[in-house]
Amino acid sequence: MLPATLLMKKRDGGTLTDDEIRFLVDGFCRGEVADYQMSAFAMAVCLRGMSPDEITSLKMAMLESGDRLPRVTDRPRVDKHSTGGLGDKVSLILAPLLACCDVDVPMISGRGLGLSGGTLDKLESIPGFEVQLSEGRAANLLKDIGTFIIGANEAIAPADRRLYGLRDVTGTVESVPLITASILSKKLAASLDALVMDVKVGSAAFMKTRDQATELAKSLIRVGGQAGMPTSALLTDMDQPLGAAVGNALEVIESIDVLQGDGPPEVRELTVELCADVLVQVQAHASIEDARVRLNRELDSGNAHERFARMVAAQGGSLKDPLKLAACHMIEAPQAGYLADIDCAALGEAVVALGGGRRKTGDPIDHRVGVRVMARVGQSVARGQPIAALHCDKADRDAFFQTIQDAVRVRAEPVAIPPLVIDRLVSGAATS
Ligand code: URA
Repeated sequence: MLPATLLMKKRDGGTLTDDEIRFLVDGFCRGEVADYQMSAFAMAVCLRGMSPDEITSLKMAMLESGDRLPRVTDRPRVDKHSTGGLGDKVSLILAPLLACCDVDVPMISGRGLGLSGGTLDKLESIPGFEVQLSEGRAANLLKDIGTFIIGANEAIAPADRRLYGLRDVTGTVESVPLITASILSKKLAASLDALVMDVKVGSAAFMKTRDQATELAKSLIRVGGQAGMPTSALLTDMDQPLGAAVGNALEVIESIDVLQGDGPPEVRELTVELCADVLVQVQAHASIEDARVRLNRELDSGNAHERFARMVAAQGGSLKDPLKLAACHMIEAPQAGYLADIDCAALGEAVVALGGGRRKTGDPIDHRVGVRVMARVGQSVARGQPIAALHCDKADRDAFFQTIQDAVRVRAEPVAIPPLVIDRLVSGAATS
């Protein structure tokens, strides 16, 4: 077989066999298929798509390029994956909350690039928090606490890691087959019994329309299910940040608030819905309603917060002192009315420009900076009411104050309150 022949076949709309896809992926890992050839493959897939069988073959080839996390307890193993959005701090709450419900959550997370922050960056706002643990230490956390949140290592789906690196710089990230194979290869490497996807829809999301998000969700559900990992998906709103906080330390503080029974209701609601979905999938609860009751109890009793504190301590973090934040500059509503919309791109870019995110891999992060948006779209506001708080050093205040003020738009006319959960898709949906 020649790589170029397979690339031409895909370029011309053909369907690659399992052997042909494995030949490309295995060759790529061994250095026999060059980066430029794999980039051409990614572009051909972007333009021509893939059949369900091809997606399955790609996912399996990438999964088998690395190791799987060994099983260390008898408890069901679950996880959630979000396609990413502004202020999405759900993982920080969901992992310890699910661990209170007798399931294990080995969460392998990423760093932020672009507008959506990475869970690992958020957690590193906590002094001492370690995101790289040895296999033995990670296994002990799972046994003792039922969860960890760590970074991927070289052993987890290395073919995906390398291919993603190429896709990121060749305009080939936005492809449903490639995204499906990429996400599922990593989740299957964690030996999960069930996965729930949070597929964000809206201006601040990867998937801008409901149709695009539905297509991705169905693909993930179908391919995950075929691989023996029941997968469901919620389509959720990303036309405004999730919760108030956008920025690393701010998001950790907000997550702790939610774990302590406080914080923005929408963050708690979405976390509970995602958790309930995955608990029903592993039959830990008979219905979403039953699961919600249990999850709310674990939050209200303080159990979930206690589990989070144990996880943080076991990963070397210290929460004894308040997390450091940059100075706070309040922004007030210029008129009475309703919060009409939030320019998430402008808001996210401002946080990145302040040092709260990265423009390129390896850029340092300033965990102290960010923005809190103190009203939700559709909410009424009085003139002069604080609607946003900008956390930055005094020297940056003037450059960013106006940007944030312009990004949070108030209108006199009432605005409909958008739903948080737009749709819930379970395995039957994948065949429709
Ligand atoms: N996240 C992933 O893990 N992979 C993709 O391809 C896109 C988003």
